[in-house]
Amino acid sequence: MTEPPALPEPTEPPELTELAEQASRCTLCRLAAGRTNVVFGMGNPRARLMFVGEAPGQQEDLRGLPFVGRSGQLLDRLMLEEMGLTRSDCYIANTLKCRPPGNRDPLPDETETCRPYLERQLELIDPKVVVTLGNFATRLLLATSEPISRLRGRSYPYRSGHLVPTFHPSAALRGGGTVVAQMRADLVRAKEALG
Ligand code: URA
Repeated sequence: MTEPPALPEPTEPPELTELAEQASRCTLCRLAAGRTNVVFGMGNPRARLMFVGEAPGQQEDLRGLPFVGRSGQLLDRLMLEEMGLTRSDCYIANTLKCRPPGNRDPLPDETETCRPYLERQLELIDPKVVVTLGNFATRLLLATSEPISRLRGRSYPYRSGHLVPTFHPSAALRGGGTVVAQMRADLVRAKEALG
């Protein structure tokens, strides 16, 4: 029996390719000096679902890809178990494209400087549902200073679709069963929002 032909990879809008190239040369903030790679984003550029995390960690900086460490493994597992989806069904990016030294929190000026890259990614990919992972991404996109523990548990109108905030997977790795269960519930909410 012959295998069915593989489906072609979704084509990336040329503007997204250009933006990634521009970001790969970015020196607009101090983080450029310490990075190995810019971590622009990965996945299906035509996806209806987009995840937004905080910033690359050590593994991501080394490989140039988002969420490739332990947090990413948990994200992959929960996405598959609660939504039946894999990375090729979504797009994943971060609020910062370069790793902060020692994985410290993003500083306000770094977030503001990097923000246009994320805003343009959101415009070009135009997902129906954005899932924000943790305080930084959620506060940035909802323009609030409320903590994620107060913001999660519901969906918000966002652009022409919905934003579903949830914990960062590293918080779930630290926080154990209760946090994981809340993340699972949030991902089910995101699946419902996808329709
Ligand atoms: N944490 C993040 O927020 N993003 C990554 O890409 C990896 C870890």
